[in-house]
Amino acid sequence: MSSLYEQALTRLDLAARYSNAHEETVERLRRPKQTLEVSIPVRMDDGSTRVFTGFRCRHDDTRGPAKGGIRFHPAVTRDEVQTLAFWMTFKCAVAGLPFGGGKGGVIINPREHSLAELERVSRGFIRAIARNIGPDTDVPAPDVYTNARVMAWMMDEYSQIVGKRSPAVITGKPVALGGSLGRDDATARGGYEQLRELQRINNWNPSNISIAIQGFGNAGQHFARLAHADGYKVVAVSDSRGAVYDSSGLDIPTIIELKQSRGRVDAGSQSEITNESLLELDVDVLVPAALEGVITEKNADNIKARVVIELANGPTSPEADDNLHDKGVLVVPDILANSGGVTVSYFEWTQNKQGFSWTLETVHERLGEIMRREFNAVYQLRQEKNISMRTAAYAHALNRLAEAHESTGTSNDFAR
Ligand code: NAD
Repeated sequence: MSSLYEQALTRLDLAARYSNAHEETVERLRRPKQTLEVSIPVRMDDGSTRVFTGFRCRHDDTRGPAKGGIRFHPAVTRDEVQTLAFWMTFKCAVAGLPFGGGKGGVIINPREHSLAELERVSRGFIRAIARNIGPDTDVPAPDVYTNARVMAWMMDEYSQIVGKRSPAVITGKPVALGGSLGRDDATARGGYEQLRELQRINNWNPSNISIAIQGFGNAGQHFARLAHADGYKVVAVSDSRGAVYDSSGLDIPTIIELKQSRGRVDAGSQSEITNESLLELDVDVLVPAALEGVITEKNADNIKARVVIELANGPTSPEADDNLHDKGVLVVPDILANSGGVTVSYFEWTQNKQGFSWTLETVHERLGEIMRREFNAVYQLRQEKNISMRTAAYAHALNRLAEAHESTGTSNDFAR
């Protein structure tokens, strides 16, 4: 196993020191349960056939069916898919969802293909993995460069294979095909609920709290909207093209309009800053919501925020993480901060199984309840053990995983 997965395992080893998990559980979680590699022959629009490679990993399914997205990207590797599946095992456990961890990917650059080719790739991938997925075994979802329409093709293909409509096989579907209301802003809303818990704990007045947000896509934009609407001072936002800053607070609804009409956040009159300097602003809360690996040993010294809420997956390198912890920065880690997305995916799966749709209010209420409960459980463990929020989140998840794994016994029960 190569480096990305090994890096992920260091989190497990650290968490094990603060959890009640038996060493046998830790050993089982070190290895993915199953990784499938498939070849997908696809007829191109010009009549030729191209063979794509895809992966689907089920890291652990002891607490429930594996859950995790499918990405279409040229840089997909087996190592990356296994690592992302490992993270999903911990993300589902930290949120207390009855799911294990999975992930899938196809090595493809979607920009080079027509919609019809992408449909054939999506359906071909599902045909290749159909025996290994299912509503009670492994439930995919969208990820990088896959969306609701791709999920609709995949659900349809799976339904044809098994001979019955099976919406619960996949989440992130269009609402008309069984998707859940409230999925669009679920990741941001989940992170935002956790910011509100910090507000309660620290007695913050939102109008005195400044926030900088890197990334203005699904996660970043909705977070900015929610925070601004509640009176927080969102002083900086960015996208891949640029960043804007106003120390007295940006008018977020106007920036959302600009982003929608002109495709960029820096088309207005606020002062422009660089994407790198946004991370180093003197703000109370920093929200990385774009890419992985943006806070590293190179810039960690310059980070001035008191709180970092990781809406992106993996934005902080392990070295930077130690540095921030030593400086007293509270980092709400990705597996907890962005778990609102998979939580509403769980609601979608539940609604599909029930054959009953929830109102938006019900989705928001239940999401808020889970986010507050799990945030506080992790925060308390952090206080008790004097560890970082990240280690506490992993330890909290590991305790749940251990409970499930160990309910069938460990060497303590069987040794003579
Ligand atoms: P998205 O594609 O909707 O948005 C990404 C944003 O990042 C875009 O605004 C893009 O312009 C911006 N960006 C790209 N490069 C940048 C750069 N160099 N500097 C600043 N901004 C840059 O993606 P998303 O769904 O919002 O996902 C963002 C992150 O959140 C990812 O790490 C993703 O894995 C994570 N996440 C998302 C969800 C979800 O439900 N959407 C769930 C869990 C985790």
